[in-house]
Amino acid sequence: MTKLLKVAVIGAGMAGIACAYELTKAGHDVTLFEKGTQVGGRAGTRYSAGYPFDLGAQFLNNGYLEAKRYCQELGMAGEWGTLSPSTHHLFHQGELKCISYRSVREFWGLGAYSPLARTRLILCYLELRRRSKGIDLYDLCKINADLDTISAKDFVLKWGGEEVLDYAFDAMIATYHFHGAEDLSLACLLGAISAIGEGFSYDYFCHGMSTLAREMVKKLRVHTSTPVQAIKRGPGGLIVEGIHGHNLFDRIVIATTASEARRIVHHPSDAQRNFLNSVRFAATINAGFRVPNAAVSHLAMVAVPLSQNGNICCYINQNSKYPQRFEEGQTLINVFLRDEKAQEWLHYSDETLWDLIQQEFLKVCPPLASVAHRVYRHDLQRWPEAIPKYYPGYITTTSKFWQQGQGDYGLYLCGDYLNAPWMEGSLRCGQKVAQLVANSSL
Ligand SMILES: Cc1cc2nc3c(=O)[nH]c(=O)nc-3n(C[C@H](O)[C@H](O)[C@H](O)COP(=O)(O)OP(=O)(O)OC[C@H]3O[C@@H](n4cnc5c(N)ncnc54)[C@H](O)[C@@H]3O)c2cc1C
Repeated sequence: MTKLLKVAVIGAGMAGIACAYELTKAGHDVTLFEKGTQVGGRAGTRYSAGYPFDLGAQFLNNGYLEAKRYCQELGMAGEWGTLSPSTHHLFHQGELKCISYRSVREFWGLGAYSPLARTRLILCYLELRRRSKGIDLYDLCKINADLDTISAKDFVLKWGGEEVLDYAFDAMIATYHFHGAEDLSLACLLGAISAIGEGFSYDYFCHGMSTLAREMVKKLRVHTSTPVQAIKRGPGGLIVEGIHGHNLFDRIVIATTASEARRIVHHPSDAQRNFLNSVRFAATINAGFRVPNAAVSHLAMVAVPLSQNGNICCYINQNSKYPQRFEEGQTLINVFLRDEKAQEWLHYSDETLWDLIQQEFLKVCPPLASVAHRVYRHDLQRWPEAIPKYYPGYITTTSKFWQQGQGDYGLYLCGDYLNAPWMEGSLRCGQKVAQLVANSSL
């Protein structure tokens, strides 16, 4: 017989919300604690003058099946938007060159590359596609451990060479992960290649990326502005300590990033401690600038290779998602820093950061040169832990943790760093942990 459990979920990002949602639906007594004033975590949105500034996650895609299912379940299918086939650009030798990775045929027209690089890019891509069959990016535990031993960089250098690595793969990996190809395993790259299959589209929520999180928590008991300070083991159960005092629970799900889990869990098991010590995250800073829409209306997403600028890895025009304009025909461009630069600049004052980022941004966005005096600072978000690094060997370590360590003493870890990247991965990880917690009561 199922015993109904008293469960605490720490962290109202997509992972914690999905976990709390599933456990609540199954009848358990769930409390969700969130330290911030808003829910959504790295998929959060701040609004100013009615305009959404997506702090972290920028896009969904058509493979986000669980996110889609939740939207339908909550009657918000109309919130799901799809970009019209979007143009990506690459900043290359002072110019923006149009790139599209939608089909092999289009690779041949990529003006940014030499003919030799184009040939090698096609070879490399075909080899990746061949090896990526059947891999699920959002559940990397199922992947063959052999693919987890080498880096994306080593693989691409072998098949594509330096130019293909720098302009195509390193630039795209840094656009999505903020770090370079050396910190990504071939296994994770294959997962990404598999996810961008036929019919791939960039999708979004029409009123900001936190829309789904905000709808889901309406069904939950959630305490915002309630940071959990410590999790301890007590004689009658597990203790959650915070500004609200002490509370006793049967199970605790820690859906924060790994360093926060390390900080708040007193006396984890050896397997939990060892695993948490193996986790690494890339940092970034997201700076949103209001700029004249007319100058950049043709741009959606621009990747900046390391060889062209060591500070900025990409920028994304929000007009493709949120066509309503600011006053005077402005749009918002979110600019992202590369991991190494973000680590260095994270502790700078806002003023210094704005100055540095604006200077670098103008270098890599030529259409703004003539209207630089009309570029305004809008909002800024620092991410010391933006994206987990799926470095070679990490997926294998994490798969072992799911077998041994997950659930020790009634404590469960949950989030995108558990072989479940991105918003969709976080949701699915939340569901998977909810299932484990529920099964532990049988
Ligand atoms: C800049 C950036 C761009 C991204 N772009 C995309 C994208 O385009 N598409 C995509 O799918 N994904 C993207 N991602 C990744 C995506 O945002 C994450 O994978 C996902 O949101 C992670 O969810 P999570 O629940 O695992 O963790 P989080 O969202 O980090 O949630 C953890 C929560 O725990 C809370 N918390 C922490 N400590 C405590 C405490 N002590 N007590 C209580 N609460 C606490 C935090 O405030 C937070 O709300 C991006 C991320 C960033 C940073």
